[in-house]
Amino acid sequence: MEQLSTLKQIEQQCLMNTYARQPVVFTRGEGVYLYDTDDRRYLDMLAGIAVCGLGHAHPAITEAIHAGADTLLHVSNLYYTRPVMELAAELTRVAGMNRVFFCNSGAEANECALKIARKRGKEHSAHKTEIVCLRGGFHGRLFGSLSVTAQPKYQRPFEPLVPDVRVIDPNEIGELREAVTGRTCAVILEPMQGESGVHPVPVELIAEARRLCDRMEALLIFDEVQTGNGRTGSWYLWQQLGVQPDVLTTAKGLGSGLPIGACLAGPRAAEVLQPGDHGSTFAGGPLVAGAALATIHTIEAEGLCAHAAAVGNGILKTLRSWHGSAHGVTDVRGRGLMIGFDLDAPIARAVVSRALELGLVINATGDHTVRLLPPLILTAEQADEALTLLSQAIQDVRTPA
Ligand SMILES: *Cc1c(COP(=O)(O)O)cnc(C)c1O
Repeated sequence: MEQLSTLKQIEQQCLMNTYARQPVVFTRGEGVYLYDTDDRRYLDMLAGIAVCGLGHAHPAITEAIHAGADTLLHVSNLYYTRPVMELAAELTRVAGMNRVFFCNSGAEANECALKIARKRGKEHSAHKTEIVCLRGGFHGRLFGSLSVTAQPKYQRPFEPLVPDVRVIDPNEIGELREAVTGRTCAVILEPMQGESGVHPVPVELIAEARRLCDRMEALLIFDEVQTGNGRTGSWYLWQQLGVQPDVLTTAKGLGSGLPIGACLAGPRAAEVLQPGDHGSTFAGGPLVAGAALATIHTIEAEGLCAHAAAVGNGILKTLRSWHGSAHGVTDVRGRGLMIGFDLDAPIARAVVSRALELGLVINATGDHTVRLLPPLILTAEQADEALTLLSQAIQDVRTPA
């Protein structure tokens, strides 16, 4: 506890005030568990916001990072290194896409996607510059990605934003039909919206977006920063929906904790960027590429996509059984190990705090909504352990001692 107050003091003096941190100091992790300064154990049902898919200190990742540290950290993209080329081959294979641009984060992956859309649009016509996005979506906090993140609380302080963005309601297919015209260069969407509380976008709207993009010569961009890399039970969610995007962005779980993002393109978008159009100094270096390559190989070798689907189904079933019970759970959403549920009172943040006291790490996306994004390696027994603690946390908040 001594350490926590010291670190809090530094935070208050020296850090920009951008995060609401929970009152805990983690020192190490092992598998699905985290440990604090008193070596108290916590079951991690958040995985660093869908980042640590293989849990903590997975030997395959540790080994890949050691190998990178022992040999070559960085040379820039002016030269070849083996891990980067191998990762490009493996990632395009599992994602079902043609080419990839590597970057350092989810927001950067979307910046790349938007630049591809604008350049390609303008090659058709000077007026083909409009980007259609969905209300409630989240695509990142840089100016381009923020401009298509249709949520006033994120956008308002930073206006004016990138122009030529049109916002539609994900449940109004008519709005989509009106918005996509000859002036549209792209439609960008998360097939399941994460930061807004795990809301699947209706598959009819996604399929209609595909048809309209084909008809209007626009690109369909899927932001799979959160849904990707095995999280929802397949490599990428598009593979379950049967609607393939022209551009697919991902990040979060790709590097198992090292920062890496990727913008992948299919046939209609893969040749748009040419030398000088885009780049990044740090992006796609051999160390992070090695960790991402080890992530892909481990997900494949351990069958973690199917595993995530099975364990996630079990959790969804239990949460749904809490409907109408004393828990006050009103809605349960998700796929694989990306799960959100609503409570009938604005107690989500209190539940997160109580869960932490009980040794369970979870997250609230709003006053009513709790989100679970556990490591993909979570076993059914560990899922039961989490649900027992979660049930306790909700009951404790509803009936304070
Ligand atoms: C987290 C997230 C982003 C932003 O990723 P950063 O790495 O934080 O820039 C973009 N899109 C989606 C869907 C996300 O979940």
